[in-house]
Amino acid sequence: MIIAVDGPTASGKGTIAKALARRFGLPHLDTGLLYRAVGYQVSLYEGDPDNPAEALAATNFPDELLGHPELRSEATGGLASRVSVHPGVRKALLERQQKFAGQPGGAVLDGRDIGTVIAPNADVKLFVTASVEARARRRWQEMHDRGESHTLLEIEDDLRRRDERDRTRAAAPLVVPEDAFVLDTTELDKDASIAAAIDVVLQATGQQPCP
Ligand code: C5P
Repeated sequence: MIIAVDGPTASGKGTIAKALARRFGLPHLDTGLLYRAVGYQVSLYEGDPDNPAEALAATNFPDELLGHPELRSEATGGLASRVSVHPGVRKALLERQQKFAGQPGGAVLDGRDIGTVIAPNADVKLFVTASVEARARRRWQEMHDRGESHTLLEIEDDLRRRDERDRTRAAAPLVVPEDAFVLDTTELDKDASIAAAIDVVLQATGQQPCP
């Protein structure tokens, strides 16, 4: 079973995807991490994330980089959003993601274009969203817990910029896949979001939800 989880930054899609993977015994890939690795690798070379050739060269990042704590920072998220607009970068990361999705037994992948480009034939497609204010509060808390100090307004401005870039880019823009179930987590806490997502998968695959 392939489960595609798409949605904007800090919508809760990563938490939901991880929980679905645990619940259904599937491997999970956070595809945002690949773009974050490219963005961070460009910065290590002091390159320009807006330059397509420099961003493409950074897709050769070493696998160990995927565990680097700096990948989770707000600054790297911004770099990831900039390198991800280049079609060459997206193409270079495509095979790795499709191979992961196509492994025997299936997988859970989360990102922006899983249900539309990476795994258009996924068995279940979820689009996780939330208001920009709710997402900014969550991202602020996450950054605060990491020891990064940003104001709520800075985070909100950054989210709006990244949403705009993700939604308007020509290559694989963030859109709700036609056959996706939209889960709005604005009013839901973590446990309620996970429970709702599990119910969607159970119903979509004809299994009985828990009583
Ligand atoms: O999900 P996350 O915030 O870690 O993703 C970082 C950035 O990578 C996003 O803002 C988005 O621009 C890009 N991305 C993408 N396609 C994906 C996953 C992430 O363009 N499948």
